[in-house]
Amino acid sequence: SATLALTLAACGGEGAGGSGGAGGGAEAEELTIGVSMPTQTSERWIADGENVQEQLEAEGYTVDLQYAGDDIPTQSQQIDQMITEGADILIIAAIDGTALAGQLENAAANDIPVIAYDRLIRDSENVDFYVTFDNFEVGVAQANALLTGLGLQTADGQPGTATGPFNIELFAGSLDDNNAFFFFDGAMSVLQPLIDDGTLVVKSGQTSIEQAAILRWQQETAQRRMEDLLTSAYNDGSRVDGVLSPYDGISRGIITALQNAGYGSAANAIPVVTGQDAEIASVKLIADGVQSSTIFKDTRLLAEQAVVAATAFAEGEEPEANDTETYDNGVKVVPSYLLPVETVFADDIQSVLIDSEYWTAEEVEAGQ
Ligand code: BGC
Repeated sequence: SATLALTLAACGGEGAGGSGGAGGGAEAEELTIGVSMPTQTSERWIADGENVQEQLEAEGYTVDLQYAGDDIPTQSQQIDQMITEGADILIIAAIDGTALAGQLENAAANDIPVIAYDRLIRDSENVDFYVTFDNFEVGVAQANALLTGLGLQTADGQPGTATGPFNIELFAGSLDDNNAFFFFDGAMSVLQPLIDDGTLVVKSGQTSIEQAAILRWQQETAQRRMEDLLTSAYNDGSRVDGVLSPYDGISRGIITALQNAGYGSAANAIPVVTGQDAEIASVKLIADGVQSSTIFKDTRLLAEQAVVAATAFAEGEEPEANDTETYDNGVKVVPSYLLPVETVFADDIQSVLIDSEYWTAEEVEAGQ
């Protein structure tokens, strides 16, 4: 990063009233920032891309925003092209966090700082900073939301009125996404003791992350796995009481499978299903009492942190980390900035999502 600032200063970019970083620094107006996002099939990444772009442009940067359609070669090629076209800084939310080492080497060779956005990029020393949420806490919050939904505890963690045992099933995210492990480990830190003492029973026996994983976080794949679990483990008249789901799209796949199997009536209540991202379709399902909860991650704040980090690099400085221990990418521990997350049950939709203007009441009502 210091090299970047020096290079830019040497190019004669610094005018009066310059941003004045340690190594000289460049004006935002002179800099292009490449923003690489994974997919537009999930709302959060659309919002992330828009928020990062708007906030960078408001600072005067030029933004090259690309979506890769969840295709790894496309993302690699888009990043290479950003580098060829002269990007000064890269902000990347990886599809496969292990597949970008070549692109990052190319970036480093061109003195381009790389900010990993939300998802850690693994197996490369050329990741300069990581902005994300507290991903282990996401998993803890999902597990606690499952326990609350089952009545084993109250929303503030006090003992609940139910005692179990409850049948549950476990879902995890995509194994090429480092976050999937943090979510699952966080959740299991809460659930494992209750599985061990028999309060929770994973009737399928599928308790490893490899068994629970859903490639690319896809809704249809999740629906199929839930259908298979119902056929194989619940064909003896037993019922599933709760499902740990790491992401709202996966939750909706699970819910569809459950509804197709007859769950969701007064006599056969829909199981407690967790989620993540506060996607509008899931927020409506929560308002309607179908999905139990989601975890809200305010992508506006994450975009803001990405802009703060990019600006620090532009000024020839290191962004300020609030965690320098957790995110070992296999080669180095990447300095990180972690944001907090919030659990949303039906009662929280107004105060957490509508009052903060993340969604309007009309959008929640319509589910879109
Ligand atoms: C993100 C989650 C998201 C998931 C699927 C993860 O890397 O942290 O917020 O639900 O990807 O898009």
